[in-house]
Amino acid sequence: TAVIHCDGLAKTYSEGSLRTHVFHDLHLEVARGETVAILGASGAGKSTLLHLLGGLDVPTAGEVYVDGHRMSRLSDAARGQLRNRALGFVYQFHHLLPEFTALENVMLPVLLGGMEHDDAEAQARGLLESVGLSHRLDHKPGELSGGERQRAAVARALVNKPACVLGDEPTGNLDEKTAATVFELMLSLNREQGTSLVLVTHARSMARKLDRVLELHEGKLREVSPDEV
Ligand code: ADP
Ligand code: ADP
Repeated sequence: TAVIHCDGLAKTYSEGSLRTHVFHDLHLEVARGETVAILGASGAGKSTLLHLLGGLDVPTAGEVYVDGHRMSRLSDAARGQLRNRALGFVYQFHHLLPEFTALENVMLPVLLGGMEHDDAEAQARGLLESVGLSHRLDHKPGELSGGERQRAAVARALVNKPACVLGDEPTGNLDEKTAATVFELMLSLNREQGTSLVLVTHARSMARKLDRVLELHEGKLREVSPDEV
């Protein structure tokens, strides 16, 4: 089964009498282990698409399947479990929990998945080390710089070894060197564990390193050949 599959996907935002038709009849299939870049101008609907794929928002029409499960058919609890087990999110507004330390934030998804505390802590420490945050384990989000917060969010997204990572400009706020490190970390997870990546990015140098590049334009997803990128 595809990690992510959607068909006939449509999204219209309604505010009073104002309707914004972002897209309709969108089709996307992401195979296990496949890496996909999504490009598109500001306002094209990239974030909307990623939110729908992650079950954070509900499509106006069409269905999203994650790991073969039809999202709209699941109870809120089951959808939450599926999200926690199968998906890792790296969004611009990373939503680290402010009252918890970096270590605790990264441990949380694995604890929710049922792992023993000590194993969860070891796993979280390992990932925080690989994003260069070993010296910030006990800092709360408010005590971290923007770049540090984003790296903590990336560690949290990867800690559960999800089948698919959904990233909305996952390295957008990082300096060049840290961005490259974080991107390499995601690529190595793909190589070593077959994690699929769906990354919205403006960084064409990154898009080029992924299996497929899609461009969202006027409500349609168009395949772009790597040499066009
Ligand atoms: P992108 O991520 O490609 O910049 P978005 O998905 O954020 O695009 O937005 C696509 C379109 O939907 C834009 O026209 C935006 O103004 C509109 N939009 C996004 N979110 C909302 C919302 N919550 N309510 C109303 N309109 C929205
Ligand atoms: P940047 O230049 O990356 O934006 P900052 O100037 O915000 O970083 O912070 C510099 C360092 O100080 C960061 O490593 C951050 O973890 C630490 N820091 C910032 N605010 C606090 C705080 N309130 N308590 C403890 N450490 C902090």
